[in-house]
Amino acid sequence: MSTTRTPVPAIGTLSQRQQRGMDCVWCGVTLTAATAIDLGPRPLRILDQVSQWFPRSCDRHVDKAEYEKLLAHCAACPTCLDTGCEDGARLRRAAREARR
Ligand SMILES: [Zn+2]
Ligand SMILES: [Zn+2]
Repeated sequence: MSTTRTPVPAIGTLSQRQQRGMDCVWCGVTLTAATAIDLGPRPLRILDQVSQWFPRSCDRHVDKAEYEKLLAHCAACPTCLDTGCEDGARLRRAAREARR
């Protein structure tokens, strides 16, 4: 099973606060516990050391990213609109939950 993660901006283009997950990686807004969405650990290579960083975003963007994934999936998936498929159901659920 492959999990496609939302792409995030290159860490080198972000501010210190964005790199630390204090600000949204997309719009730079200051995050609170209520609005922060963890985007999952990303590999980070510094010279020959590989470590990780943990980008976070505000809740506005996750909604959009999931919705776009859903649209892309439905356009390519022959069974979605017909009998439905697991991927489509999962994406729809995620898009709905993100919109709450
Ligand atoms: Zn944002
Ligand atoms: Zn489908």
